[in-house]
Amino acid sequence: MDTTASKVSRIDRKIKKCTLCPLHKGRTNAVPGDGPIHDLNIMIVGEAPGRNEDLAGKPFVGSGGKLLDSILKEAGLNRSEVYITNIVKCRPPKNRKPKTHEVETCTSNYLERQIELLKPKLICTLGATALKYFTGETNMGENHGKLVRSKKNDGLSFFPTYHPAAIFRNRSLKEVLQEDIRKIPFVLKKVKEEGANKQGIV
Ligand code: SF4
Repeated sequence: MDTTASKVSRIDRKIKKCTLCPLHKGRTNAVPGDGPIHDLNIMIVGEAPGRNEDLAGKPFVGSGGKLLDSILKEAGLNRSEVYITNIVKCRPPKNRKPKTHEVETCTSNYLERQIELLKPKLICTLGATALKYFTGETNMGENHGKLVRSKKNDGLSFFPTYHPAAIFRNRSLKEVLQEDIRKIPFVLKKVKEEGANKQGIV
C-alpha cells in the first residue's frame, strides 16, 4: 500500500474507534468517508451521517445520497470520481445539528487531515454547517452556486450548495441544487487553469 493510502486508512481506523466527542455514544458506525484518494478533483462535504449512513458506515447511502448520485450523474459526474465525507463522522442524536465543540473536535482531528492528504482541487460543501465551517458565511441564499475562497484554508476553493436533505423539506430547491451541481465541471476547469497558471504550467 502506498504512503497516502496507508495514511488515509490509518485515519479511517482512528475515526472508527474515536471517542473524542459525545457523538460516539449514539453511533452504530462512524463514517470516515468514501472515494478516490489519488489525483482528487472534487471532495464533497456534508454535515453528518444520518440513520442509513450510521447503519452502513458509508456516507450518503440513504435517500439524500441517492438523490445526490442522480444529480451528479445528470451533471456528467460519477460518484466514484468524488470523495464524499462529512463535517462530523458520527450521527448526532435524532439527526440534530452537530454542536460547535463536536464540529471543532472532529474537524481538527480528521477532516483537516483528510483534506491535507487528499488535496482536493475543489471542495463542494452541502448545507449550512459545511458552508459556515469552511467559509464563515451563514447565508446560503447569497453564497450557493459560486466559487468561494476560504478565509481559513489558504488557497482552497469552495463551491457551496444546498444539502440534498433540504430538498425533502422544500421541493423547489431541487432545481437550484441541480443547477448548482451542473456548474461544477466548469468551476473545476477554472480552478485547475488558475492553479496551472500559478505554477507556470500554462
Ligand atoms: S464525531 Fe468525530 S470527534 Fe466525535 S466521536 Fe465521532 S469521529 Fe470522534
